[in-house]
Amino acid sequence: MQARGLPSSSATLPEANFLFHELSSYLKREDVSELQNAYLFSQSAHSGQFRKSGEPYISHPLAVASILGKLRLDSQTLAAALLHDVMEDTHVSKAEISDRFGKSVAELVDGVSKLDKIEFQTHADAQAENFRKMLLAMARDVRVILIKLADRLHNMRTLEAMRPEKRRRIARETMEIYAPIANRLGLNNIYHELQDLSFRYLFPTRYRVLNNATRAARGNRREMVTKILDTIKQRLKAAGLDAEVTGREKQLYSIYKKMVEKHLTFSEILDIYGFRVIVKDVPSCYIALGALHSLYNPIPGKFKDYIAIPKANGYQSLHSTLWGPYGTPIEVQIRTPEMHRIAEAGVASHWLYKSTDADLNDLHMKTHQWLQSLLETLSDSTDSLEFLEHLKVDLFPGEVYVFTPQGKILALPKESTAVDFAYAVHTDIGDCCVAAKINGENAPLRTVLRSGDRVEIVTASHAKPNPAWLNYVVTGKARSHIRHFLKTMQYEESAKLGERLLNQALMSVKVDPQTISEAQWDKLARESGAKSKKDLLADMGLGKHLPAVIARRLATPGESDSGPNGINDVITILGTEGMAVQFAKCCRPIPGDPVIGFIKKDQGLVIHIHDCPAVSKNKGNSDNWLDVAWGKSIDRQFEVSIRLMVANERGVLARVAAAIAEAGSNIDNVAMEGDGVYTTMNFMLHVRNRHHLAQVMRRLRRIPEVAKISRQRG
Ligand code: MN
Repeated sequence: MQARGLPSSSATLPEANFLFHELSSYLKREDVSELQNAYLFSQSAHSGQFRKSGEPYISHPLAVASILGKLRLDSQTLAAALLHDVMEDTHVSKAEISDRFGKSVAELVDGVSKLDKIEFQTHADAQAENFRKMLLAMARDVRVILIKLADRLHNMRTLEAMRPEKRRRIARETMEIYAPIANRLGLNNIYHELQDLSFRYLFPTRYRVLNNATRAARGNRREMVTKILDTIKQRLKAAGLDAEVTGREKQLYSIYKKMVEKHLTFSEILDIYGFRVIVKDVPSCYIALGALHSLYNPIPGKFKDYIAIPKANGYQSLHSTLWGPYGTPIEVQIRTPEMHRIAEAGVASHWLYKSTDADLNDLHMKTHQWLQSLLETLSDSTDSLEFLEHLKVDLFPGEVYVFTPQGKILALPKESTAVDFAYAVHTDIGDCCVAAKINGENAPLRTVLRSGDRVEIVTASHAKPNPAWLNYVVTGKARSHIRHFLKTMQYEESAKLGERLLNQALMSVKVDPQTISEAQWDKLARESGAKSKKDLLADMGLGKHLPAVIARRLATPGESDSGPNGINDVITILGTEGMAVQFAKCCRPIPGDPVIGFIKKDQGLVIHIHDCPAVSKNKGNSDNWLDVAWGKSIDRQFEVSIRLMVANERGVLARVAAAIAEAGSNIDNVAMEGDGVYTTMNFMLHVRNRHHLAQVMRRLRRIPEVAKISRQRG
């Protein structure tokens, strides 16, 4: 299939010679010869390949380059156009293109190849819009889009060779995706041709009938057109204007659209003559308008000043419709040569007729300038500004566009991760996501998505949002749902703790919690500013109300007699209370330590070691303190801090770390200081309880270099 590296046996096509001749009118000689090399390379890579029409494959990239040559694009774009299918259809690598033709050309070819891999699948309008955005977002360089549009244009021109259902599919995609992109970029000639060709293959019969009728009608009216043309020319000359006047033929598709949308008959539309007047500057445009209005009467309400208020894609002209001879309407467009260039080529107009010395590399800059110039001309039309903002977003993407497994496209802000995607699909999927598959491969949930990715989320019914996700999610939706979930979880945990705290406090004042009526609860909740009993319990768990105080208010005289006697239950700590119970950072209690609980406002129950200095400091607030005890079977690890003084010997840290690991503990953190004879090491370890800690310390003492060892508290 490929004959890469071999001298090309096939001769250069005559169209190629014609193209290089044309290009030499505006490109440097060495650029043209580089393009000849690109042509020969592509011809050789595609040798043995043929198009459906039977022509050698190279005729296609050549035609694409010719379309772009007419727009006078730079030599890199043209080289990339000649090479645009070699990566996809032959085995030439990006690196090889880069070696031979430079990095920029390779990037352009790669960009076009990436767009080719994406297929438009769904039919909804909103999806078409997203798909257009995705294409624009994926093309970092506008030239990629220009090549893609030229590629599509040539494929549409040669669509006849395809099977009918393939023709329809490609025509529909062109009408929905590519023609609107051409329109946005102001590439009007390409836009109209894409529309007409799509129309032809989407509605072959209508197209044929309309085409024949238009031809016949135009033939009949030629004499009339010539007459009006001459009259207009004379009148403009008499007004002192040097004008170029041409008859204008309507696009078949726009005739068809007008018939459908305005319910007009064919002859009602075709009986309108179109003329274009080009004059040297803006004042001349208005003079020409005045001259024509005095020649034929204008039809009221048909005058549009797109010079003062340009269309969003930069189009400028004066439009007016006049009553011509025998009552036939005449549409005129009046513009300057500059406006004409933009009307025909939009964003590409900046490459037109530019001096060859200009720096043509920085296309983003040029596109930016184009958008900027549009912004300046579009002063007070809000609609247009919105449209333009939209386009700006497209060309300087702040969004990524990714596929769901069903082929739907989602738009997400830049830097979005798989978790953002999961929440964008559905809250339940976000809440239960555990892993992601991106383009079929396993990927962490924190993976940042790129346009064109196909994303699949793996969920598990027991899974819960992870607070760590808040570090990397970027969408508001993901953020607020994760926060909401954590808050709810905290509420549930606090309410449970609050109930335990209150029950203990009630016992100590000899009240059986079972004897408290709903009415008492309601009254108490109201008085405490809580919405419900559960809210009140959660508030107690969070330390907003002290259980001892609430218990005293519930223990009204007379009722306390019936309560259980002298039971002073303590709160058992299991280490599974979640956010409602915290272990004080000052003393870091572990199971086995004698402990005491302190109810801290808005934080819930904080557990301290009995003789922690913080305890004696706050002993005064006796209502805040309560007795707690460790539960029997605690199945988790606790943080503890120990300090070692060791002799400064080689490898001592490794021996210490090994001893800790052998004792079944994990090191969370280590800090060292001192560089003399001794070094002090501060370890943060994970241990199950005091017994476990004792084992760890025993092992450490066996190391000869360890001179001193102590547990740190505060
Ligand atoms: Mn192609």
